[in-house]
Amino acid sequence: MELDVNTFRHRSWAEPWKVKMVEHVKMTTYEERKKAIVDAGYNTFLLRSRDVYIDLLTDSGTSAMSDRQWAGMMMGDEAYAGSENFYHLEEAVQKYYGYKYVVPTHQGRGAENIISKVLIKPGDIVPGNMYFTTTRLHQELAGGEFHDIVIDEAHDPESEHPFKGNIDLNKLEALVKKYGAEKIPYVSMATTVNMAGGQPISMANLRELRAYTQKHGILIIHDMTRVAENAWFIKVREDGYQDKSVAEIVKEICSLTDGATMSAKKDALVNIGGFLAMNDHGIYEEACNLVVVYEGLHTYGGLAGRDMEAMAIGIGESVQDDHIRARIGQVEYLGNRLLAHEIPIVKPIGSHGIFLNAKKFLPSVPQINFPAQALAAAIYLDSGIRSMERGIVSAGRDKATGDHYYPKLELVRLTIPRRVYTQAHMDVVVESILEVYDQRNRIKGFKMVYEPKYLRFFQARFESLG
Ligand SMILES: *Cc1c(COP(=O)(O)O)cnc(C)c1O
Repeated sequence: MELDVNTFRHRSWAEPWKVKMVEHVKMTTYEERKKAIVDAGYNTFLLRSRDVYIDLLTDSGTSAMSDRQWAGMMMGDEAYAGSENFYHLEEAVQKYYGYKYVVPTHQGRGAENIISKVLIKPGDIVPGNMYFTTTRLHQELAGGEFHDIVIDEAHDPESEHPFKGNIDLNKLEALVKKYGAEKIPYVSMATTVNMAGGQPISMANLRELRAYTQKHGILIIHDMTRVAENAWFIKVREDGYQDKSVAEIVKEICSLTDGATMSAKKDALVNIGGFLAMNDHGIYEEACNLVVVYEGLHTYGGLAGRDMEAMAIGIGESVQDDHIRARIGQVEYLGNRLLAHEIPIVKPIGSHGIFLNAKKFLPSVPQINFPAQALAAAIYLDSGIRSMERGIVSAGRDKATGDHYYPKLELVRLTIPRRVYTQAHMDVVVESILEVYDQRNRIKGFKMVYEPKYLRFFQARFESLG
């Protein structure tokens, strides 16, 4: 007997794994949630996780590890120097990403700190496809000035451009003309663009960027936090890639760049870890000089041996087609259900979460009253689901004028941890958002009553205006 095996497109995205262990979560009452969110100054980052039912704050470090990764944890070689697990990590980075040298760091920002200090001189210009909070801060602390060169569509939540992470080469050219290529050490290129809603860059755009930067002697440093997710979108959206595997596409992306910072807490399926990778030996040497100051020896970089082992195994799992298909399939399931009810979300649906358009959800709350912050708090109050603000609070203040940045995108991010929640959990999320949407006129916005100096969204406190 033979069946037609070409059924790929007809099957649902169901997970390529089954559950082996469960973690209980608390179901709270409205009164308990009311007290918790007031105590937290209406900032979902200040909630205790025990008061949260479905935690969609972030996909960072919240993945469920596989049985193989847990088995790897038992094989930790906790030698101070030359741990076996470091060499496994190095092999995984070389095999799956193709970079020559790797320096482990405790997480992504550890790598950002080091590469910024190595490559940026005071007064330098660092262009990138939209800012990321920690990335830009490290570039600024090193004396650089970040310039956004993402295409305009990325700032428009309604635009259905399939590659909203693309770089506008005219914007890059304008910077080169104005400041000179020698003032631009590298382009900071992210796969996918987190702040735009998990939007991918296309291979065609990356190739053009590569050609242009090579001509001008500018490096490309790759923020490869979600590179496998970006590769999936290239596979399904870009001509010529349908028959390539995610692993092949990931390697091709990396081959068009000079180095990378990685938050392994995202794509690479670990609870802690990251690395800096590069092909140039001189940059590697400089990075080794700095890693001992900020992280630890160059063969552990602030991580236990067992963490590096879990990361090495997670990297291999993260580039499997079945894994990414289910991961993004779940995100799309949630997004499509919300779209069916005409809830305003960023389109197309991105890789790691659903982004509610708070400007449209709460049109009567002005941006200065933090609509996205207020919406995230309201969703928590309704159901115990934790999301986070990605709008004016996250954008922070202009260093020169001291005024808020007023980003076009005022979003609430519902980030989906990898391999953690079920389709029924996603249904509860939809129910809660519909409930809050029905009651949106009760949400009046906030005023900020405490503002920390750096990355204020983590610890700011608010009072409700009604
Ligand atoms: C999370 C993240 C980082 C920073 O990594 P950490 O591990 O949180 O320090 C950098 N860039 C992007 C795009 C991220 O999502």
